[in-house]
Amino acid sequence: MTPKPLRSSAAVEDYLERILELINTKGYARVVDIASSLGISQASVTNMVQRLDTEGLLKYEKYRGLVLTTAGELLARNITHRHQLLTDFLKLLGLDDEVIYHDVEGMEHHISAPTLRAIEALTAQIQKQPALLKRVKAELESFGHLT
Ligand code: CA
Repeated sequence: MTPKPLRSSAAVEDYLERILELINTKGYARVVDIASSLGISQASVTNMVQRLDTEGLLKYEKYRGLVLTTAGELLARNITHRHQLLTDFLKLLGLDDEVIYHDVEGMEHHISAPTLRAIEALTAQIQKQPALLKRVKAELESFGHLT
């Protein structure tokens, strides 16, 4: 059985994730803020935002900014949750922040719910067992620094 995807496309997920983050930190998300935070043009953001509006994931009013619908917020929370769990797991293993961010940005769109739960359980157990974590890190060290 193929696990059911949790999602729509990676691009849609990244937009929703960023919009939720902006709303949580600034209280609002404007096209200009989304564009600068994703490093893309305002025109592209406007196109995507209109598409997300059509799909019922947000409400967009020019000059007034946008709000996530219930469906949009659910998707945004889901991707944010996946991002956080995967980041926690890789941080625990002592990987570089830059590597973690890069990898999580890819993994978060592809991981299935069962695999994510397995990683969540593994993270929780490793956190409770410092001796095990130390052995895992020592083993990682023994591989040397592969790039
Ligand atoms: Ca992302």
